[in-house]
Amino acid sequence: MIGLIDTHAHIDGDSFDEDRHDMIQRAFDNGLEAIIIPAIESKNYDKIIHLCDNYPQIYCGMGIHPHNVANATDLDIELVKQYADHKKVIAIGEIGLDYYYDFAPKEIQKEMFRKQLILAKQLDLPVIIHNRESDKDLLSILKEEQDGTLNGVLHCFSSDLDTLYQALDINMHISFTGNITYKKSTLSDIVKAVPLDRIMVETDSPFMTPVPHRGKRNEPSFVKYIAEKIAEIHDLQFEQVCTMTSNTAKKLFRLSMLIVLFSAITGFSQSIYAQISDDSTEYEEEIIPQNPYSRTFGIGIFVATNTAIEQLTFEQRTNSRSTRSYDGNAALGFSLGYTIIDPIMIEAGYLYTRNNKPIELGYSTLPNTYEIFNISMRAIANPRSKVAFFAIGGLSYISNTILGEIRNVIGFNAGAGFMVQIPTDYGIFVPTAEWRLDFEGKEFRTGKEDIDRKFKGWGPVTINSFYSLPKLTIFWYPKF
Ligand SMILES: [Zn+2]
Ligand SMILES: [Zn+2]
Repeated sequence: MIGLIDTHAHIDGDSFDEDRHDMIQRAFDNGLEAIIIPAIESKNYDKIIHLCDNYPQIYCGMGIHPHNVANATDLDIELVKQYADHKKVIAIGEIGLDYYYDFAPKEIQKEMFRKQLILAKQLDLPVIIHNRESDKDLLSILKEEQDGTLNGVLHCFSSDLDTLYQALDINMHISFTGNITYKKSTLSDIVKAVPLDRIMVETDSPFMTPVPHRGKRNEPSFVKYIAEKIAEIHDLQFEQVCTMTSNTAKKLFRLSMLIVLFSAITGFSQSIYAQISDDSTEYEEEIIPQNPYSRTFGIGIFVATNTAIEQLTFEQRTNSRSTRSYDGNAALGFSLGYTIIDPIMIEAGYLYTRNNKPIELGYSTLPNTYEIFNISMRAIANPRSKVAFFAIGGLSYISNTILGEIRNVIGFNAGAGFMVQIPTDYGIFVPTAEWRLDFEGKEFRTGKEDIDRKFKGWGPVTINSFYSLPKLTIFWYPKF
C-alpha cells in the first residue's frame, strides 16, 4: 500500500463511461488511498455524488468551473451549497479563473470565483482552484478574501516563481500534475521551491497524462509518475513523497477521520446504502452501472456432481434407521440470474440427475432420477469486484423417481460460492463455483419393500433425502 491520494481527477467525465469501474479498481489495485473528484458543472453533480456513495475511497469537491460560469447565477451558488451538505463533499471546487480559453467574460468569472470563495469560508471547506493565464487577478482576489480562514490548493500549478511565493504567503497549497514529467517542462525549479508540507499530487484525469503514457487518456492509477518525478526533483525516496503528499491532502481536506470511517464500512453495506438511500433512487441506471450485472439477465449452464443421501426408516423393525448415499452422479442444468438490487441476485434453475447405481448394484431395473427446480436469492458480499463471494438460499421443487415410484416434494436449498467476472465484447462471462445443498421438505413413504439387498425383508421404508451439489456454472450476461 503506497497510499497515494489523487487530489484532482475528473473521473465523472464521459471518457470513463465505458470502463469506469475497472479504471477505479485499477487505481486502488495500484495502492491509491483516495481519489478526489472536483465538480465542474451542475449537470454532473448527481453523477459525482453517486460515485462517492458507491466507493468508500472517493471524495469530491462541489463548484462551478470558470469555463461554465457564463450563465451562472446565485441560484447555481445555492445549488453548490445544497450539494456541499453531503458528507463526502470535502471542498468547494473546481473554481477559479481561466483567461486562456476565455469561455466566460472575465468580470463574470471574477464574480463567481469570489462568491464561491465566500461560500467556502461560510461552510468551512477548503477550495480547489483552477488558474490559467490569470495569475494577477487570481492572486488579488485570493488576497482580498484571505482573512485567515481561507484554505485551499492551486491545482495543476504551472505559473512562475513569483506567483508561487505569493500563493504560499497566503497559505495556499500547491498540487502538480503530469506536465511536470514532460521533457520540455520548465517546472522543476517551481517543484523544488515548494515546501514539502505544501505539495500534493494529482492527475487531472483524463487530461495531462504523464510520461510514459503521454498521448493516452489519463487515469488516477498514473498519479505515481507525478510522485516519482517529485521524488527525483526533491531527491527523496518515492515512499517519502507518497506519505508526505497524502498527509498534506488528508490535513487540508480533513480526510483522516473520513478515511477511517469509510474504510470501516465494507463494500457490502456501502452498496446497500447506495440502494436504499433516497438520493440514489433518482439517478438513472444508465449513467453509472451500479454493478456489472445490474438489470440484465444472465444465462448459465452448469455441471455438477450430485450426491444423494437417503435416510431410511423401516416401519417393521425397531432401531432400524439407516443411511445410504449415492455419490458422484453427474448432474446437468441451467440457471437464470437477475440482479434486483446491488448485492442481491435472484436465481432460478433446473437440474437433472440420473442415478444408475441401483441398476449397477443389481437391485433395480430402473435408475433413480432427480429433477430439482430452484428459485433462490444470492447475497453477494462484493458485487463489483472481479472475484465476488456469495451465499445462496431459497426454495426447491424436487421431482424424483425412486425405486420406480414418482414423487414430488417442496424443499429448500442453501449454499455458498464465488464468481469471477470476465468482461468481453459480447458481454460479461461469469464462471461461478458453488456448493449447494437441497433438502426435501417431507419424507417419502413407500408402500413397497426396499429393494436394496442389504435391506431385503425389512418391509416398507420411509425415505428422507437430501442432495449435496458442488457445481460449476458459466453465466453469460449479454450486452444489450
Ligand atoms: Zn483545472
Ligand atoms: Zn480540473
